[in-house]
Amino acid sequence: MTETPLKLFNSLTRETETFTPVHPGEARVYTCGPTVYNYPHIGNMRAYVFADVLGRTLSWKGYDLTHIINITDVGHLTDDADEGEDKMEKMAAEKAQSIWDIAKHYTEAYWADVKALNIRQPAKWSVATDYIDEMIDFAKGIADKHCYELESGLYFDVSTIEDYGKLARAVTEEGEGRIDTVEGKRNAADFAIWRKTPAGETRQMEWDSPWGKGAPGWHLECSVMGGKLLGFPFDIHTGGIDHREIHHPNEIAQNQAHCCTGGLGEAENSGARIWMHNNFLVERSGKMSKSAGEFLRLQLLIDKGYHPLAYRMMCLQAHYRSELEFSWEGLQAALTRLKRIVMQVERLKDELTGDPSHQKFAPMREKFAAAISDDLNTSVALVALEEALAVKKVDGGVKRAVVEDMDRVLGLDLFGLTREALRIRPKSAEITEVEIEAEILRRKEAKVEKDYATSDAIRASLAAKGVEVMDGDPLGWEWKLV
Ligand code: AMP
Ligand code: ZN
Repeated sequence: MTETPLKLFNSLTRETETFTPVHPGEARVYTCGPTVYNYPHIGNMRAYVFADVLGRTLSWKGYDLTHIINITDVGHLTDDADEGEDKMEKMAAEKAQSIWDIAKHYTEAYWADVKALNIRQPAKWSVATDYIDEMIDFAKGIADKHCYELESGLYFDVSTIEDYGKLARAVTEEGEGRIDTVEGKRNAADFAIWRKTPAGETRQMEWDSPWGKGAPGWHLECSVMGGKLLGFPFDIHTGGIDHREIHHPNEIAQNQAHCCTGGLGEAENSGARIWMHNNFLVERSGKMSKSAGEFLRLQLLIDKGYHPLAYRMMCLQAHYRSELEFSWEGLQAALTRLKRIVMQVERLKDELTGDPSHQKFAPMREKFAAAISDDLNTSVALVALEEALAVKKVDGGVKRAVVEDMDRVLGLDLFGLTREALRIRPKSAEITEVEIEAEILRRKEAKVEKDYATSDAIRASLAAKGVEVMDGDPLGWEWKLV
């Protein structure tokens, strides 16, 4: 098979580029992680499924991957203006709990979702508050040349570096009204690097600094952790598309100041060679939110009887740069597709893994490699997987090897998943799986005895409890909850 070069869309150049690692044979990736003030919604999790597919692809291509995902437990404000409240402080006050307890609870909830979606563990989860000293050092290093102090904190002067806002394609001269709320700023887009605790107030989280007691600005943490853990310039920086507008341009500005590099004509001067952004998961009613309407957490999907990997499948069916609209019908379709694949894979589970380089599978393997190398086209890659599963009259072990190899990238856990595991009882169901199975067995026995009255009565009583008996289902499912 010919080696297909990996092409990735770089948001900084707005072009698809061939991936060339900074350090030969290695891939160093930084992903902006969650702010742990609340549960992640499934839109947030799309960002990590995307980053996971990227990481898996790099590993699959043979690069030695170092992936960092941070946990933001300080500094992220409720709005992009520097006058908002810290999200963590606000939630802690609302819940009358310590920030540390809030952070612990929601970090663990996030990790549970990561696990359920079969997202691989990064090399490190870097927690922002573990890097406060480094953040202060970083700020000290750039303060003289690039920052100025106001009563409310230390601000970064975006006019001191070249090409500010290139990532967002923002026009700074006209100003960005959304950030221009702090009196005394030199440029509308200037942002806080250090926020001083206002006189007479105490915050749960505050540290001493040359600019007074306070807390770091959100953008600072990612510059500091990315640089420290991966070294500037590293290969790829990822996040959701909203970060393309403010968070990442500001991170880039800090990196330019810190590394004393020039303009962004050279992508590396930004601190990373490639900046990648996933598009949003949206609801028909508009943007997904943690406050409006039904809060779409992964647990809600599970409570309604959908296996979390059905949501992963839903993400894979769309290109990461396309907006994806969430609907329950779409999720159901993704689950059905996953069931079909799992059923075919179950037949391969007893096979010993063979040699995948069999010529019968060459077209599917080529198609898969070409798709995934084409800016992570997972939807076409999925089709290649299904085509490989459909190949007839072939050694099962060879097929197993081909499918396993593809799933290393897609991460659907196809050889761990079972048909039973995919059938989740909705929380609202009145009957347990064990009870259903017992009734199904009793019905089978009645049918063997030709006691159709009993068999019909069991079917009716199950139907009354929301269980549909599916005789002759092509997928081999005997029942489903409706
Ligand atoms: P946050 O915890 O708010 O910092 O967000 C975590 C990640 O989710 C960031 O990379 C965001 O850009 C991303 N994100 C937020 N909303 C969505 C959405 N609806 N769809 C996809 N990604 C999102
Ligand atoms: Zn970040």
